[in-house]
Amino acid sequence: MAVNPLESVRHGVCAVLTEPTTEGFISQMESAFQSGASLVELRLDYLTEPADLKTLMNAHPGLKLVTIRRKQDGGIWEGDESLRLELLQNALANGAHGIDIEEDCFSRIKPVPNTTRILSYHNFQETPGNIQELFRRFTCLRPDIIKIACKANSILDWFRLRELYLHPGPEKIAFCMGSKGYPTRIMSVLNGAPWLYASHSTAQPNAPGIPSLELVQSMFPLKKLGTESKIFGVVGDPISHSLSPAIHNNAFEHMHRNDVYLPFHVNQEEFTDFYGRMQEFPLEGLSVTIPHKETAACLAGTRSPLVQRIGAANTLIRRGNSYHAENTDALAIVQSLKQVLGKSLGEMPVLILGAGGAARAGAFALSLEGCPITITNRNITRAKSLANEAGWGFLPWEDRFSFRSGILLQCTSLGMHPNVNDTAWELKHFTPQHVAFDTVYNPLETRFLQEAKTSGAICIPGMEMFIHQAAAQFELFTGLLAPLEKIRDTAFKALTGKPA
Ligand code: NAP
Repeated sequence: MAVNPLESVRHGVCAVLTEPTTEGFISQMESAFQSGASLVELRLDYLTEPADLKTLMNAHPGLKLVTIRRKQDGGIWEGDESLRLELLQNALANGAHGIDIEEDCFSRIKPVPNTTRILSYHNFQETPGNIQELFRRFTCLRPDIIKIACKANSILDWFRLRELYLHPGPEKIAFCMGSKGYPTRIMSVLNGAPWLYASHSTAQPNAPGIPSLELVQSMFPLKKLGTESKIFGVVGDPISHSLSPAIHNNAFEHMHRNDVYLPFHVNQEEFTDFYGRMQEFPLEGLSVTIPHKETAACLAGTRSPLVQRIGAANTLIRRGNSYHAENTDALAIVQSLKQVLGKSLGEMPVLILGAGGAARAGAFALSLEGCPITITNRNITRAKSLANEAGWGFLPWEDRFSFRSGILLQCTSLGMHPNVNDTAWELKHFTPQHVAFDTVYNPLETRFLQEAKTSGAICIPGMEMFIHQAAAQFELFTGLLAPLEKIRDTAFKALTGKPA
């Protein structure tokens, strides 16, 4: 018995091609299949010449979907509607394995044996409250697949779409668009969608948040994901620049774990609700970044002694029905120093430059190691207030150069890309008795570190701290020893394009 070939796709990637010419479609089709796409979607609304369907359909034996999206549905087709429908019908007759079409004209395309009709709905503004109703209406039209793509205004919109997977009826592809919906594109596959859409053309389709085929193939090994896969992630605002998804997904792959790590774009007002529903995703563990570190520490069911002191957490790990908070930034500062200075930090004096989150983590962690702490900060009130919390010393910012020997822990944002000429210290005040540790890791060698090196000081780059905090998170997430060299290589590649 003949079967519809698209029915066999599971955990696949559909490369969306948006080319102006037939030649362009053929070359991108070839490259998409070579890069591991399971199928391609030919977005013929981008074609600026008459469609040569026979040539297109015969150009490659791989699975092909044809879509001609109208302007009102998020595409760029402004031509005649009957021509559009004729092209879609002819695509099926000429060898397309499926077409994607909207509700108002769905019944005008006749089914063709062993091909797929996808009935789709796109909403670029929101995920409507009545999505279940729309789904039921779509089911009555008896399509082979229902595709629903709606913009997420909050990651919690996902739960409304996810419920659709519980309904009987046709195959479903339901996910959220936009930066807040990004992780749902991957989670949809875990919930039963046969494939994920990824772009593979220079012209980006109007599908906010769509990842590139290259990124999906390098970061999210969909074929390896199964029902036993655990979901981890990083939560923050902004989050698109985060190196953590590359680091953790590569580490999972290296350790042969079929888990996945996703970026969650959640703003301050949404975080408490997000935290309340983390178990429903379900999230096994989370890296927490700006601006949620303090709230994460408050909300967590249990806190490590360091988190209790610092009042901020960068890691949440699921423990039963709750989450445990840890601060691996603090652990990483100590580890990076011990790696260079040996197991004990003795009673080396430390001057902390800054009084923000990184400064707090460093001060409490190093104080626990027995180091005497002094705080200096541009805003003296913040320096005093942090110093008074634990009975540490403080120095006015202008007097900081009086610290001539010991650990200089640079915790301000000075020198961070793109302001690479800024520095918190002056060249003439570095001494060979300084251990200069810059927490800034972009650029890899800050002006602070360059000048410390010139002066004969021992240098520790922020990248070491970044690698150790990620490694400590990996160990808390998995209970396994972290692949430190793999993490180092991924971090360097992500930042510089070159391995360590
Ligand atoms: P934060 O809480 O916003 O604190 C920023 C600090 O920088 C404050 O002390 C602030 O002083 C100071 N500052 C900002 N602009 C300044 C200027 N022009 N002159 C003097 N001081 C200035 O930030 P954070 O979370 O602590 O992060 C600080 C740095 O640590 C960032 O560069 C971040 O990349 C780095 N970090 C690295 C890692 C890693 O893994 N390597 C992890 C966490 C953080 P005021 O109080 O006077 O404003």
